[in-house]
Amino acid sequence: MANVPITVARGDGIGPEIMAATLHIIKEAGARIDIEEIEIGEKVYLRGISAGIEPSSWESLRRTKVFLKAPITTPQGGGFKSLNVTTRKSLGLYANVRPCVAYHPYVDTKHPGMNVVIVRENEEDLYAGIEHQQTDQVVQSLKIISRPGSEKIVRYAFEYAVRNNRKKVTCFTKDNIMKLSDGLFHKVFNEIGSEYPDMEKEHWIVDIGAAKLADTPCVFDVIVMPNLYGDILSDVAAQIAGSVGLAGSANIGSAAAMFEAIHGSAPRRAGQNLANPSGLLLGSVMMLLHIDQTDVAERVHNAWLRTLEEGIHTYDVFQEGVSKTKVGTKEFAVAVVARMGQKPEKLKPVTYRSAPPQAAGGGALKTRAAAKKDLLGVDVSLHWTKGTPDDLAGILSKVVVSGVKLHIISNRGVKVWPGGMAETFCSDHWTCRYTGVENGATVNHGQIVELLGKIAGLGLDFIKTENLCAFDGVKCYSLELGE
Ligand code: NAD
Repeated sequence: MANVPITVARGDGIGPEIMAATLHIIKEAGARIDIEEIEIGEKVYLRGISAGIEPSSWESLRRTKVFLKAPITTPQGGGFKSLNVTTRKSLGLYANVRPCVAYHPYVDTKHPGMNVVIVRENEEDLYAGIEHQQTDQVVQSLKIISRPGSEKIVRYAFEYAVRNNRKKVTCFTKDNIMKLSDGLFHKVFNEIGSEYPDMEKEHWIVDIGAAKLADTPCVFDVIVMPNLYGDILSDVAAQIAGSVGLAGSANIGSAAAMFEAIHGSAPRRAGQNLANPSGLLLGSVMMLLHIDQTDVAERVHNAWLRTLEEGIHTYDVFQEGVSKTKVGTKEFAVAVVARMGQKPEKLKPVTYRSAPPQAAGGGALKTRAAAKKDLLGVDVSLHWTKGTPDDLAGILSKVVVSGVKLHIISNRGVKVWPGGMAETFCSDHWTCRYTGVENGATVNHGQIVELLGKIAGLGLDFIKTENLCAFDGVKCYSLELGE
């Protein structure tokens, strides 16, 4: 079988040491790989390249489509872009997969039976990075959830569960509050989930779900969630498993994939042969599965489990009375290699089935006819500081556009006119909702342009507009509190 080309970056801090240990172990296990090395991280940032990766390195990543990456140090100070975010976005790595496993009693944990995989959407949500300051007092960050993005990640989670013999997929959202954005994610979860009748499915509101995860993680199996919740809860899950230093993660896209440890470059531990290479090693096991070298992945993983249960531990997981031998990075790698071909006797051995790489979300996106879209009005937001809601309504009464009326004025999502409450705090950011004069009547772009022209003509500073639409007859915009 031909070798698979992969791109390797040794990173900063403890990165080069844990990468050397990882490559030594997987090569000894028979990994059929050809390595192309690229430089990333601190030195590249300090050469003035704000993304921390040379433009020429993308050629290697595009060629190999497989990236094994050690942690890097982000220099202090502003002006440096996150390499991880850049890589995820540039290569379209939409799925972040993080197994969080307890290795009781060999690694201290409060949850001995924990074995949860967090599947986090990686490209959308508040991480779309669309932010604006709109007034002196108000900034906005847009939460973007798309149907294709949700379909890809949800299908990925179900396919992952099937391939890995998991029994249940849980979805976390906050759709009791974010009815449209998180509501879409939940709806897609239900739709795609119905294609997997043998898989148990459930949905939790993220707040109580997070509490349950922290308290009783053993009731969960695979959990899929939008980007922000996944970012936070995958760290919580890794921490309570007791294994932040042991967890690896995969970032998967349709065209490429990146594998790494979840921890950082631990600069204070660098160059002392102290660091635990296990997180990156388990990341490399996920890489071996991705390139369909399941035999090698299984050998590496089982030899590693055997080493762990024999009490051969690096300083970070060493416990008096449990651990037997404290070793450095290199000696740990030698110990794993010495156990190649062996299986753990107390921890559960892993078995991996050969299967083609799981990319592209495991299936085609659903095709849907475009909905009938009706324009029912517009929210016009103003930067205004000159008085009360009634004063603003008085000024806006001079704006007359045929077929359009001022319906309500709101401030930070709360209706303040007509009939607002004196107690409501008003910032300098006002949203004026215009609708058709008749209930449910449509408006057109020409009327909106005329409206904006007249508002500007009064010297008012409009800062954004949002169209109010119905799709297939359903109003798809939030009602202001109190509307
Ligand atoms: P860190 O994960 O590097 O270290 C946190 C703690 O865990 C430290 O006490 C460290 O000694 C210990 N630790 C981490 N990994 C270990 C290992 N393999 N073996 C033994 N001990 C280990 O987090 P930090 O100190 O907040 O960040 C250090 C640098 O890493 C920062 O520049 C940060 O930006 C960067 N970072 C990079 C990545 C990445 O490249 N993916 C991720 C997180 C942080």
